[in-house]
Amino acid sequence: MVALDGIAMSTDPTQLELKSQDYHWYSPILKAQLQDCRGELIVRPVTEDEVIRVVTACARERVKLVVRGGGTGNYGQCVPLEGGVILDITGLDQVLEIGDGWVRVQAGCNIMALERAVRASTVVPGGQELLMYPSTRDTATIGGFIGGGYGGAGSVRNGILKDPGNVSRVRIVTIEETPRVIELDDADIQKVHHAFGTNGVMTELTLALKPAVDWVHHIALFPTYRRALEFGVAATEACARANPIRGSDAPPVPPGPAIDAFEITAVDQRFAPFYADAFGDRFPAGQDAVFAMVNPRDLPAWRALVHRFGGTETMAMTEDELTREGLVPAFECAWNHTTLMALRHDKSWTNLQTVYGWPLDIDLVERQMQRYGDELVMHHEFGRDQHGFVVFALPLVAYFDRERLYEIIREHEADGCLVFDNHVVTIEGGGMKTIDTAQIDFKKLADPHGLMNPGKAEGWLPEYARP
Ligand SMILES: Cc1cc2nc3c(=O)[nH]c(=O)nc-3n(C[C@H](O)[C@H](O)[C@H](O)COP(=O)(O)OP(=O)(O)OC[C@H]3O[C@@H](n4cnc5c(N)ncnc54)[C@H](O)[C@@H]3O)c2cc1C
Repeated sequence: MVALDGIAMSTDPTQLELKSQDYHWYSPILKAQLQDCRGELIVRPVTEDEVIRVVTACARERVKLVVRGGGTGNYGQCVPLEGGVILDITGLDQVLEIGDGWVRVQAGCNIMALERAVRASTVVPGGQELLMYPSTRDTATIGGFIGGGYGGAGSVRNGILKDPGNVSRVRIVTIEETPRVIELDDADIQKVHHAFGTNGVMTELTLALKPAVDWVHHIALFPTYRRALEFGVAATEACARANPIRGSDAPPVPPGPAIDAFEITAVDQRFAPFYADAFGDRFPAGQDAVFAMVNPRDLPAWRALVHRFGGTETMAMTEDELTREGLVPAFECAWNHTTLMALRHDKSWTNLQTVYGWPLDIDLVERQMQRYGDELVMHHEFGRDQHGFVVFALPLVAYFDRERLYEIIREHEADGCLVFDNHVVTIEGGGMKTIDTAQIDFKKLADPHGLMNPGKAEGWLPEYARP
């Protein structure tokens, strides 16, 4: 195609196989369903103008298109269900501008590179940091996080991506014969956030920053999972005292210490064998763990809280110290990395993504642990959104078959847990549950021919496509 002259591209079958995959294989159901899906051409633009040339050609020829960042998404977010072009966005990797409290960055920028850049910048003495990142910080792109992610390390302190102010501007290229560039601000960003790349190519983002903290990566061990969760609840409340939730509907927080933290994760002791290579005696068998990132300023108060709940500290190191010792950071012991740790040892595990109410019903968690025995291994993430506290869980599940998996999901729903079903490919079937009409309306503008990531938006009907 002359229109694409000078733009890197490939039809190499090995590359096509690799770049047609993401981390959907956590789910045996999706693994079977998506194993033969392949894109037909990989293109790697390095400027917005090149992106525009690629999407112009796709729109003119009515070729399907999947945007790909780091390819770490679950749910098959990046898997081309109907072939077509894989638009590798990682060539747009520049940090464009850093201000006091914000950064403007190209969407294909690796998140770790971005974090390093804002920490190194002298705009604010001592540097700045991102408000949150997925546990895939080192491999994912910032655009992929907005397109497919939700929250992660930092969410216990700063909320989730969706909360007002965390992402303040997104620049989008539409998929039309003559593409337009649209900038969405503030609340309008929800039109493309978590839309699985179905409604426009993000090329630039503006994100909020805060002054950098050299977080201490911490492990505390507890004699029971109940104690680990009780500590997690108390630590989350302590974090909210240090960083108050400002919404008018914010839940009351009892008096106590204020302790700044970036990550708080409780991990069931049955995970210990999967962590042995990474941590050895720091997470031995027979004890439940809380992995955390704590402000060094508040470490004495954190240690006192650990002690109050009968815990023992086995690690307290900055990221530089961890790197020197060859240890992994606490956020890579959290979120979906916990499942990855288990899968590296035994491929028969899968997981669920569930949400519990606040205050966390620890009796319910114990009843669930009794109900499932070794069929399910617990892991909870403490977080918040603009309205209050949120406790996510990503328990390991020993996969038997689809019927049994959905029986477990129904039981969790009957328990009052919300389940983000990571065994389906659509936006609505996974986390969102309902059709987001604002996203579909925006797709009518930004992808009028319905070429982007087909099969992922249930709300998009064939008759919406402009001929
Ligand atoms: C081990 C592991 C841990 C994880 N931890 C977390 C976590 O802590 N929090 C969390 O929220 N998620 C998590 N995830 C999911 C995933 O890693 C994150 O959502 C991540 O940010 C995705 O970034 P990526 O660059 O890999 O995106 P990709 O997988 O490349 O893309 C994700 C989606 O966004 C779309 N997209 C990508 N770039 C663009 C663009 N420029 N314009 C339009 N659409 C685009 C893609 O088409 C796709 O639908 C985890 C996944 C794994 C496997």
